Amino acid sequence: MKKGEDRMRKPSMLMVCCALTLTLVGCTTSEQADPNEPIEQPTVSDTEKPAETPTDNETAPAEPAPEAEEPAETDKDEQPATEPEPPVEEEPVAEPSQPIELNGQANLELDALVLVNKQIALPSDYQPADLVPANIDFVDSATGERRMLRKEAARAIESLMKDAKAAGIDLKGTSAFRTYAYQVQLFNAYVARDGKEQAMKYSAPPGHSEHQTGLAIDVSSASVGYQLTQELEQTTEGKWLADNAHKYGFIVRYQRAYEAETGYMYEPWHLRYIGVDHAMNVHKTNVPFERYLEQLMD
Ligand SMILES: [Zn+2]
Repeated sequence: MKKGEDRMRKPSMLMVCCALTLTLVGCTTSEQADPNEPIEQPTVSDTEKPAETPTDNETAPAEPAPEAEEPAETDKDEQPATEPEPPVEEEPVAEPSQPIELNGQANLELDALVLVNKQIALPSDYQPADLVPANIDFVDSATGERRMLRKEAARAIESLMKDAKAAGIDLKGTSAFRTYAYQVQLFNAYVARDGKEQAMKYSAPPGHSEHQTGLAIDVSSASVGYQLTQELEQTTEGKWLADNAHKYGFIVRYQRAYEAETGYMYEPWHLRYIGVDHAMNVHKTNVPFERYLEQLMD
């Protein structure tokens, strides 16, 4: 029975050890909650554990729980202290900085953000590669390629027109894509009729028309006889456009307030596609597209 007694004593000794080590673990755990000494705590618990685990197999399964908690607690304590300056890297609409123009020539790399205006021109032979017919109602005088837009813009105007119709807003396209050659004819006709100085206020010389980008479309309503007139602004349809076009990626490009900056008179009918995110920003910040791009590419 002596041997049996010896065997009985060994487990009891182990239990004492267990009780001691558990007490120690309990102490370190409670100490870790102390915010005054966040740096020392991991070293205290780390040095104790290697001593515990080899001596007692029984207590080993019980340990992972406090072990698992400890890193979580120290992480919480350390993160604000050691990493105080991870800045918010995400910006709403980040674009790689690119030149807006190249010696008076439009930078086609800007894609849907390409800038064309009185100073910046497209090459005379430029025609977008992804022109598709826009499946919307057009006035009868709009034929052939003048019913086409770049694919993304075509899908966007289709969506806009569908929702407009559902809201009881009666709009039709009057002119979308224009070739350089067509703009030559158009501009010359306007100059012959009104003189160049006057024509420059409402029409673009060849190469300087946004319609050649395949990203612009003129729209009008029955209430103004589908004419391109500033009276559109006062109609239900014109107001709906001003309030909703940006949700589909379009901006009313030539605003009354921008006349001095753009050189164009107010055109409530001329929509330019730039993508939803950018259109939302332009609408919100209420700046000419030129200025928006300068800020974006700064
Ligand atoms: Zn236009």
